[in-house]
Amino acid sequence: MIAASKQPLTTPVVQRDYVSFSAISTYQQCPLRYYFRYIEGLEERFVSSSLALGGAVHSAAEFHFNEIMIGNSPPDHDTLLDVFWDGWKSRAETAEIQFGKNDDLDSIAQTADRIIAAFRESDMAKPTGSIISVEEELRCQLIPGMPDILGRIDLITESDEAMTITDLKTARTRWSAEQAQRSGEQLMLYAALAKDLAPGKPIRLEFAVVTKTAKPTVETLPVTFNERRVERTKVVMQKVWKSITNGNFYPSPSPMSCPGCPFRGPCDAWPG
Ligand code: SF4
Repeated sequence: MIAASKQPLTTPVVQRDYVSFSAISTYQQCPLRYYFRYIEGLEERFVSSSLALGGAVHSAAEFHFNEIMIGNSPPDHDTLLDVFWDGWKSRAETAEIQFGKNDDLDSIAQTADRIIAAFRESDMAKPTGSIISVEEELRCQLIPGMPDILGRIDLITESDEAMTITDLKTARTRWSAEQAQRSGEQLMLYAALAKDLAPGKPIRLEFAVVTKTAKPTVETLPVTFNERRVERTKVVMQKVWKSITNGNFYPSPSPMSCPGCPFRGPCDAWPG
């Protein structure tokens, strides 16, 4: 078991000159989980099979788009499957993969095979315009009083009409248009980070949602940029950052987050 921190919570909390949207989301989900991950830097001893599958699908998609970007033909099914398993194995080398009650390696293999087939058939795999970036890391100081905001953007394409930013998600079920719109804050911040890549061009935002169902679907769902929501998101991030820099760390147990949390041991041992 990983020992709980003996450091007082006055440990300097600003240890990076950037912060990502997902780090802020982690704090909102559970401040103590943020502390273990981003302040203490504890190893994540296990990862759920669902997260590992999502990461490996990202690896395969990244390879696919990189090949197209450099002018090669789209990779065939078996090549993408190999990339998937390379991604899976590299995750398994750093953390124990914990399977859900309905999962095992065989079921993951079948799901991966079906997802790769659905992805290769989908419109997402044949983007219009040219690919200008894959898994691009962008950062800048978007919010006063905060370090740089860092975003890792899955896919950026450009056509005569617009630049399109695509965020790939793997999900248990299909998303509705409303769900995509409601989840759009991160994409809207990415638009602010990426605006200098195609100056003067309109920016389109979309989620590409891949389902891990028996019959996987790959759907792109647009997100409408909304300046008011961006400003609200910035205010929320400022408030969260203030709480982090003030050292406000405490557990926020929930049946949604705790079962998949890799820090359950340190959490149980945390003295409060
Ligand atoms: S086990 Fe639950 S309460 Fe504890 S750190 Fe993880 S998410 Fe937070």
